[in-house]
Amino acid sequence: MKTIGIIGGMSWESSIEYYRIINEITREKLGGLHSAKSVMFSVDFAPLEEMQKNNQWDKATDVMVEAAKQLVSAGADFIVIATNTMHLMYDAVQNAIAVPVLHIANAAAFEIKKKNLHTVGLLGTIFTMEMDFYKGRLLDQFKINVVVPDLEDRTIVNQIIYQELVLGKIEHKSQLEFIRIMESLVSKGAEGIILGCTEIPSLVGPENINVPVYNTTYIHARAAVEIALGERLI
Ligand code: GLU
Repeated sequence: MKTIGIIGGMSWESSIEYYRIINEITREKLGGLHSAKSVMFSVDFAPLEEMQKNNQWDKATDVMVEAAKQLVSAGADFIVIATNTMHLMYDAVQNAIAVPVLHIANAAAFEIKKKNLHTVGLLGTIFTMEMDFYKGRLLDQFKINVVVPDLEDRTIVNQIIYQELVLGKIEHKSQLEFIRIMESLVSKGAEGIILGCTEIPSLVGPENINVPVYNTTYIHARAAVEIALGERLI
């Protein structure tokens, strides 16, 4: 069994889900008292969130690269970055270490391709919805078109993530907003919805909309287990 290295803490509300899912799936697959071999480097999210807000991406990259190096020296055979947003610095992290990094969008694309969808809606932080590192990868590498909410709704989604979900707050009113926004993405042509922020699955899921829903926390964590057990390549 390979050792999974997890860069966590962004936020810990979702890192705890990674840890739970990784161990549950390992137990399901191997039975008995089996659990996953893993190491986690959990960052302090407050300074990182400041860096995101202030566009200090170089500084944030240094934090992520350092975390990845620590995980490699702790024995990680491969790394997962337990947040969609911080895949902005995926290349820098991957280039700084000698073990592979499992990209969360690749793991999502692998699932989307199983149903052969051409267009999906993407919910995530403003960075994930607006910058090109995620949408561009899905389009260029997997030929998956991405639609995002309009500016007003992107702002609502982003506020709910940073003011509620990363703090573990689940509000019914916000759930209704997310459902409305997911429906608007479907009316714009989305055949499925990517929950492209690792805290969103605590608010909405497949029961809330009539198209396939891609929970990136679950998909990424399950892919990590499959890689750890040699069932799949990165
Ligand atoms: N966990 C979130 C994500 O998947 C947002 C927090 C962050 O900015 O890293 O994008």
